[in-house]
Amino acid sequence: MSIDKNPLLRANLKQLRLPAMVAEFEKLAREAAAANEGYEQYLLRLTELEVAARASNAVQARIRAAEFPVHKEFDTFDFTAVPHVNKPKVLELARGEWIEQKTNVCLIGSTGTGKTHLAIALGLAACRQGKRVQFVTAADLVMQLEQAQKQYQLEKALRQLDRADLLICDELGYVSFSRAGAELLFQVFTNRYELRSLLLTSNLPFSEWNQVFQGERMTAALLDRLTHRCSIFEMNGESYRFRESMKKKKKTGE
Ligand code: ADP
Ligand code: MG
Repeated sequence: MSIDKNPLLRANLKQLRLPAMVAEFEKLAREAAAANEGYEQYLLRLTELEVAARASNAVQARIRAAEFPVHKEFDTFDFTAVPHVNKPKVLELARGEWIEQKTNVCLIGSTGTGKTHLAIALGLAACRQGKRVQFVTAADLVMQLEQAQKQYQLEKALRQLDRADLLICDELGYVSFSRAGAELLFQVFTNRYELRSLLLTSNLPFSEWNQVFQGERMTAALLDRLTHRCSIFEMNGESYRFRESMKKKKKTGE
């Protein structure tokens, strides 16, 4: 068993909540001695480790808080599968300025065309830039809000959602809602107008959104706010999954 030569220093660093420094101070001290580094240089290198560890932990915490269903990145997205999607424009969005400018993104297209994949990749990029992100499907969002309303917690639930710099609402259009549910969703979306960003994915073209929001007036009011400052990507085409599985079948001759 190795003997702890610096129990007091270790205890102090622990009390000051500097775990990366606790883990590394001895190794770095040996390296500093070998390289004839000064005290300040040593302290700088040690504190740099702590700062980097904190930044990385904060990113991980934001990613966990965002509740992404799976982890998807841009580097695994094959842009050649959706040639009409403007790749430079998508990668520009990954820089996150649109979230600072409180604008919106809509990904519209048939199932399996990579809408959720791109939504998550954009969300992860935002988390890495220090933004608060919340991912939720439209159906879950309505369910959560209805539940909150029943428990007289609606205001609190809405406030919580408003706090996210980016709300990703996935799969709008797969299920239609009751009038009350649609109104709750409408409220969430309009609360964000020009204050916070919204990323929506939908299998329905805008012309069919009144199926979800029931009523032309509510749909028109929503679309007016949503699309006022919005990057819209139409992702129609064959399902990527379907195409990949057909390719595999061809290869194996099934
Ligand atoms: P959508 O949300 O449009 O229905 P998804 O994003 O869920 O589609 O895509 C379905 C599956 O296919 C996912 O596993 C996703 O990672 C993959 N996928 C879709 N499009 C692409 C693409 N262009 N490049 C790589 N993977 C893709
Ligand atoms: Mg999807």
